Amino acid sequence: MDYVALYRKWRSQKFSEVVGQEHIVKALSNALKMGWISHAYLFSGPRGTGKTTIARIFAKALNCREGPTVEPCNKCDQCISIQQGTSLDVIELDAASNRGIDEIRNLREQTRFVPMEGRYRVFIIDEAHMLTQEAFNALLKTLEEPPPGIIFILATTDPQKIPPTILSRCLRFDFRKIPDELIKKRLREIAIGEKINYEEEALEILARYADGSLRDALAYMEEAVLYGGGNLKEQDVVECLGVPSYVQVKDFLLAVYRGDINKGLEVIDEVIESGIEPKIFVDNVISELKDLALKSDRRQEINWSLEDISKCISILEDLSLKFRWYGFPKLVLEVGLVKLISNFKKATIISEVQKAEIPVVELSADFNRIKDLWPLFLESVKRESVRLHAMLRECYPLSFTDNTLVIGIKAGFSFHYEYLSRQENKRILERMFHSLLKREIKIEFIMGESKDNKLKATASKVAEMFNGSIIETETKKEEEDDEDG
Ligand SMILES: [Zn+2]
Repeated sequence: MDYVALYRKWRSQKFSEVVGQEHIVKALSNALKMGWISHAYLFSGPRGTGKTTIARIFAKALNCREGPTVEPCNKCDQCISIQQGTSLDVIELDAASNRGIDEIRNLREQTRFVPMEGRYRVFIIDEAHMLTQEAFNALLKTLEEPPPGIIFILATTDPQKIPPTILSRCLRFDFRKIPDELIKKRLREIAIGEKINYEEEALEILARYADGSLRDALAYMEEAVLYGGGNLKEQDVVECLGVPSYVQVKDFLLAVYRGDINKGLEVIDEVIESGIEPKIFVDNVISELKDLALKSDRRQEINWSLEDISKCISILEDLSLKFRWYGFPKLVLEVGLVKLISNFKKATIISEVQKAEIPVVELSADFNRIKDLWPLFLESVKRESVRLHAMLRECYPLSFTDNTLVIGIKAGFSFHYEYLSRQENKRILERMFHSLLKREIKIEFIMGESKDNKLKATASKVAEMFNGSIIETETKKEEEDDEDG
């Protein structure tokens, strides 16, 4: 027998099986009970949230031999043919690949016929926003004078692209992202049904990663099960999807909670080294915080108030947007860590690195101007020396104090550091800045490798990115000597 994807195999067949979307199920059930059947519906909402599934159940409910009924029997010829996609009365059109006028004309031709076997002919147009203008015009004519017994269900992920003339003739239902908890519950049911050995944490990660789409969750689950040779282990899911493990997310939050910047940086290193996108990591931390907020039983080790949690979430959401604009995602992540910790430590970061004093960064309009000029600066360097330009591509302006511009070099680029730090090269760059800024400045380079540099760089970046909140630092008093003597 052919292999059937989990999503198809476990597709809900009755309203009572639908995951989430209670508001829609309830409204459609009431409509069926009261016999208030509209001739056009718009199902809008994110992908994988059950739009076509509910459209098919609705079609069955209308045409079931025992109906119209809220719960179709799933046994009669009507139900079975709709389920198998062979019913002559339920016509599905994927507008993503059939978007032209001919397809809609063809559809209109079909609306002239009365239902073949059932009570209604139901036309389900998926991705309806993809139809061309001509196709919409043709569809509009049908919607204006709907033939009896014809029902249109337009499904779309992008209702803004549907002309208002069409929208105004449809009864609209807005589908929501399915909550993680419900997705997790469904995954568990399916894992049990498929006799898959699963770890609870694996389900948790899958649900989170699917971001409200049950279809995506099942596709990922399938992938992870194949990867794990029939089992569903957290580690396999993490590797397969390129997402952080629960432990990494938790350790990161614990580091913030305890104000342990080094532990936090360690987690970040580990996350980056395992090839996880920093943005995905941040999104996972946000999800975990939302869970912490909602479920007090999860707040055993991290005992934050709701206010603290919501502050953290807003810092991280802000950070999540910054990944688009900054070319150094790891640094952005480190900045986020410092910002989170400083938020709880009242602008004091206790670092365990000896003598790792973080400079107080003065933010000035000058530094903003330098950042604005940076691309222009790179261009003029390129004209002067292609080699210097190539080296500078691994760099970024970090801070500007006492007329000195500190330029950061990515960790590990020691050759670049050595080359750019040469007096003659620095002088060339200072000259270029002079012609751009119309003033003399000094340039210094630091490489983001040692923890010391990393902290400095991070602190400067914090101040810069979060509109100049100045962070004072404190080094841990040498009350204990950790080194074994
Ligand atoms: Zn039936």
